[in-house]
Amino acid sequence: MKPITVLLVEDDAEQARQFHNLFQKVRGVHFDVRTVATFADGLGQLKQASVDAVLLDVRLPDSDGETTFERLHRHDPELPIVVIVEPGDTMLGIRAVEDGAHGYLVKGRINTSQLSRAVRFAMKNARLQNAEWDSPMFHLAQQQFMKAAQLMGLDENIRERLLWPQRTLVVTLPFRRDEYNEVETVFGYRVQHVLTMGPTKGGIRYHEDVDLGETSALAMWMTWKCSLMNLPFGGAKGGVAIDPTSLTRAELQRLTRRYTMEIIDMIGPDRDIPAPDMGTNEQVMAWIMDTYSQQMGHAVPEVVTGKPVVLGGSLGRKEATGRGVVYVIQHACEHLKIDPRKSTAVVQGFGNVASNAAKFLDEMGVKVLGISDVSTGIRNEKGIDIAAAQAWVDQHKTLAGFPGGEPISNSELLQLPCDILVPAALQNQITQENAGKLQCKIIAEGANGPTTLEADEILNDRGIFVIPDILANAGGVTVSYFEWVQDTQNFSWTLDEINSRLLKIMTDSFMRTLKRSVEQKLDMRTAALIEGIQRVTEAKLLRGLFP
Ligand code: GLU
Repeated sequence: MKPITVLLVEDDAEQARQFHNLFQKVRGVHFDVRTVATFADGLGQLKQASVDAVLLDVRLPDSDGETTFERLHRHDPELPIVVIVEPGDTMLGIRAVEDGAHGYLVKGRINTSQLSRAVRFAMKNARLQNAEWDSPMFHLAQQQFMKAAQLMGLDENIRERLLWPQRTLVVTLPFRRDEYNEVETVFGYRVQHVLTMGPTKGGIRYHEDVDLGETSALAMWMTWKCSLMNLPFGGAKGGVAIDPTSLTRAELQRLTRRYTMEIIDMIGPDRDIPAPDMGTNEQVMAWIMDTYSQQMGHAVPEVVTGKPVVLGGSLGRKEATGRGVVYVIQHACEHLKIDPRKSTAVVQGFGNVASNAAKFLDEMGVKVLGISDVSTGIRNEKGIDIAAAQAWVDQHKTLAGFPGGEPISNSELLQLPCDILVPAALQNQITQENAGKLQCKIIAEGANGPTTLEADEILNDRGIFVIPDILANAGGVTVSYFEWVQDTQNFSWTLDEINSRLLKIMTDSFMRTLKRSVEQKLDMRTAALIEGIQRVTEAKLLRGLFP
């Protein structure tokens, strides 16, 4: 095995000597350790020769505290770095991990195997993150997980296991365009993050930006979401890198059927159950169900959820995500002593989740001041007539030209003064640039991953109450669970039954998250993640390791 070159930046000579001794004792791997005592010399070494990983003491004569890691990371963001902290400084280590370090070690508590493992873990992660999983969204999902894992003191073995998806499938698939001789090949994915909890569950996204990293991030979030809601599923996600609005109905159908065939060994009612996500809908689910059923020789409605009701879909599934968003907003208002009937909201998006969230907010008496879609934002100080906006979109496909308000840009929309902001369009919307300018009290994340790590910190500092995606938008997968249960039992529930069960599950999860957040002084996102991660960890430890 090739030696591993480690740059040790450590000003304490005795500590450096201990590291050398520990490295020498590692079985099976030879570490070539180069030691420097200052930050400047560390940079100098990096400029001269390539190293595989850096062990970085954060307290150095020429750089002290938080900035030490940040400076080195900025110098080379792809460099695997493990930071070293004093026993009283663990917060510095946790901060560095949040900012992108691959781990931290506490002086005086390091043994040979921990040291070797930390370095190899950092190298492996950096390599994977920079290769096929290189994606801002997966980076976000992994960083959120690492932060929660550090704060809850998660078992190292489990942390490493959960940081990556258990199964991924990348396919290329051809489909015929309506012009018969034109065949286009596109990339498709299906990722199963955790198979411990039961079948895996998660939507299928059609969008031109879909890649393995994005699909893996969404699969990981599905794991925490299902676990937080106490559903018997692990997380999964799938997608095809294509803009579905560029396809005719016939092309969409051929693409969907071929994609289904490519992933057919991975899915099934007891294996992995797809559902709609961005760019897919009930019709796409119907085609998936039909393709799967054709192969099995009999109807298998329970292979997907979010189907049309006539094919075994559940009442209330279509509106469930938007409905769930509003259920948790009600709880947040109660907690913050805000009267919803005297409050205002802005909803970013007007797809299935956003339009239903806007509708239910409107029905609850909240004044919706702004909505948007890909074509435009709309603002109306007196409140937008949501039913009229929906009728306009049904007729004209987009909000462009809707006469019930003035057009505004997406960035203006997010910064409108309001009580409740619902980002329910795309990922990466609330960022370092705009987080300081938002003028809301509550953010309810209808979309997956709308807030970046840096923005999260700003929102927390500003005391804005964030209901994180894995909680706020979990109504969809919860009613998907009801749909699957009804299908597998050949039984159907009434809409009232569905909605009251949904309310119960959302309330329970919200209250558990809030309690943890208050008791442990954590932001709501970290509290929700810990809730989710803990249940999966418990299940993994109980099942034990095979073989
Ligand atoms: N795609 C939705 C989500 O992100 C729903 C998944 C499902 O119903 O399985 O939660």
